[in-house]
Amino acid sequence: MSTLLLGAHMSIAGGVSRALDRAASIGSNAVQLFTKNNRQWSGPPVDEADVARWHAEMPALGIEYAVSHASYLINLASPNPAIWERSVDAHADELRRAHAYAIRHVVLHPGAHTGSGEEAGIARIAEALNRIHAETSECAATVTLLEAMAGQGSTLGATFGQLRRIIEQVAEQERVAVCADTCHVFAAGYDLRSDEGYAAMMDEIEREVGLTRVRCWHFNDSKGALGSRVDRHTHIGEGEIGAGGFHRILNDSRWQGIAMLLETPKGEELADDVRNLARLCELVDDPARIPPGLRTPPHAGQSPH
Ligand SMILES: [Zn+2]
Ligand SMILES: [Zn+2]
Repeated sequence: MSTLLLGAHMSIAGGVSRALDRAASIGSNAVQLFTKNNRQWSGPPVDEADVARWHAEMPALGIEYAVSHASYLINLASPNPAIWERSVDAHADELRRAHAYAIRHVVLHPGAHTGSGEEAGIARIAEALNRIHAETSECAATVTLLEAMAGQGSTLGATFGQLRRIIEQVAEQERVAVCADTCHVFAAGYDLRSDEGYAAMMDEIEREVGLTRVRCWHFNDSKGALGSRVDRHTHIGEGEIGAGGFHRILNDSRWQGIAMLLETPKGEELADDVRNLARLCELVDDPARIPPGLRTPPHAGQSPH
């Protein structure tokens, strides 16, 4: 089996490309980031010098995979026309930013229907994606990954069946795929703690969207119980999922080539990421698959250069 792509969500303080340095400083070979402040609708123009630095540094630092996460403000399912329009513009902007950095995947929370109902919300998301795709034909190689959600409130995407129904209504289906999140799927009711539960989830993924449609995993343990619909991330092995759930995914050959990224709580010094990645590496059956930078115990806070 191939080498794992392991990493974490990293800060872009100092420039988007700085996320690469942070990822490399802890020995990881994959990274997730925001291409701008994720709590704002719009960001500054793309910094061309930073884009050039990105293209030089990504191979130099041994980062093999990068994915961006769209703004938390975006709600393509909103029945409110003003919010919907703003969300369409914001996600089109996210795709253009990712495209500038040659980032091929943009994770997006599908949206919340806020009372209009599941059917209406799903149709609204697909309509939005169709318009965004038409407006960003130059970014056709950048794929939106609809994230599997915990299902809090009126949030859509808590089942792979719902994600399929969104994708079915999208015209350019090669421009939309799925990001799975261990905390979210567990809170949504998929029991990763047992072989039976994991097998049932895998069957459902295959049946509803197809395994190849899932392009990225978020690795978070869950503070919320199975089926609680509570979206609260915690450290690997310290939540309700436990080590077994991560062991199953890490060692399943069907996930070869799919990056697994932490979104667990952390401070600025990255010591928490170091610890969580070490825990994941301990769960890898074949040590040859551990990314080179993670094979020797890294030191928290060590300089990238
Ligand atoms: Zn997310
Ligand atoms: Zn996530």
